[in-house]
Amino acid sequence: MSDLQAFRQETRDWLEENCPLSMRQPAKAGEDMCWGGRNFKFSSEDQKLWMQRMGAKGWTAPDWPAEYGGGGLDRAQHKILKEELARINARSPLDSFGIWMIGPAILKFGSEALKQQHLPPIIRGEIRWCQGYSEPGAGSDLAGLQSKAEDRGDHFIANGQKVWTSYGDKADWMFCLLRTDPDAKKQMGISLVLFDMETEGVTAKPIKLISGSSPFCETFLDDVRVEKDQVVGEVNQGWTIAKYLLTHEREMIGGMGRAEAGGKSLSQVAVKALGIDNGRLHNPLLRGEVAKWEIDAACFALTAERVTDEVKSGHGVGATSAMLKYYGTELNKRRFETLLKVNGSDAMVWDGEASDDGWLPRTWLRTKGNSIEGGTSEVQLNVIAKNILGLG
Ligand SMILES: Cc1cc2nc3c(=O)[nH]c(=O)nc-3n(C[C@H](O)[C@H](O)[C@H](O)COP(=O)(O)OP(=O)(O)OC[C@H]3O[C@@H](n4cnc5c(N)ncnc54)[C@H](O)[C@@H]3O)c2cc1C
Repeated sequence: MSDLQAFRQETRDWLEENCPLSMRQPAKAGEDMCWGGRNFKFSSEDQKLWMQRMGAKGWTAPDWPAEYGGGGLDRAQHKILKEELARINARSPLDSFGIWMIGPAILKFGSEALKQQHLPPIIRGEIRWCQGYSEPGAGSDLAGLQSKAEDRGDHFIANGQKVWTSYGDKADWMFCLLRTDPDAKKQMGISLVLFDMETEGVTAKPIKLISGSSPFCETFLDDVRVEKDQVVGEVNQGWTIAKYLLTHEREMIGGMGRAEAGGKSLSQVAVKALGIDNGRLHNPLLRGEVAKWEIDAACFALTAERVTDEVKSGHGVGATSAMLKYYGTELNKRRFETLLKVNGSDAMVWDGEASDDGWLPRTWLRTKGNSIEGGTSEVQLNVIAKNILGLG
């Protein structure tokens, strides 16, 4: 047996023993996702067990170095792990801004002390992070941010306002962009800093959305003490790190376009709702729309895999994350538009068990944000035009 075959067998055996049966089906709704953190309320004992077991094994971050608690897997092993998880339909053990965003930035730019302090609790799901980038006057034009941190010798004092802070009221720590040199040119003089959300002077106020939920906050910083050893990379050099972090965020958001994301296959739902006739969907107009979506999703999955392999082997262009983000989010929006058509008036049911508490209309509304969060579609198209097509 080759090493990889042996690894596959061990992985299969371990998952068989450690993945609870109830975790071998897609998470039903946002609330069913596992975010971890100090105050997280697990939806079941199985959810907690699954996160803890995968965290202890390092498989919540399979390709991070083992010395910080990661899985230490190489590309081939990581691929096998993904395949084996998919084989048993296992859901993600941990959804985490720590793993998707700040972890990769700390790994690449952080001091050894920061790595040792922050990476293990991220991997084990003990600390939940939020992102303090956007401000009322700085979204697409992120480098225009005005929140600042003043140097007070052995620490900084931060003041300002962030907005659209996803889960700011639930997170334990924030990674935050602040202006540390007010006289420097726009992109210069920005630092990426980390602080505990329980620090005095940090206030996160939820914003209510049309879907009825409040996933975002306005976050106010009033004389917040930030320790100097919590700056990622060099002071005033945060812009490069912020952009690197965004490439990871965009790749992650683009993943929403994958056919299996959200746990409900479009064609399966269509077959159930519309019925089939000689192996073909009853409704000829929707048949074409569903087929086109499935074909586009299959092409997207192959492109995403190729691009990710290229980037990991050092041959890719960083800006391809803009391409994945743009296409993946537009694809996800299209999926939900089609799901609404397929389900007809049933798609508008907002409450009750039969509709999974309005999973479809609520998720449809949420997809509208996909092409805004992490940089809007227009901004991704600008990046693609300039950095991939060389038009700028
Ligand atoms: C679901 C969701 C979650 C989010 N979570 C977070 C979070 O956790 N932390 C955080 O910091 N931020 C978060 N954001 C904020 C997000 O990053 C910003 O909304 C986004 O960057 C756009 O900025 P803006 O809202 O200020 O819009 P604006 O920048 O004001 O843009 C308004 C419109 O103008 C267009 N536009 C702007 N500039 C250009 C240009 N140069 N060329 C062409 N068109 C342009 C945009 O595409 C958009 O259509 C979240 C947003 C959403 C929707």
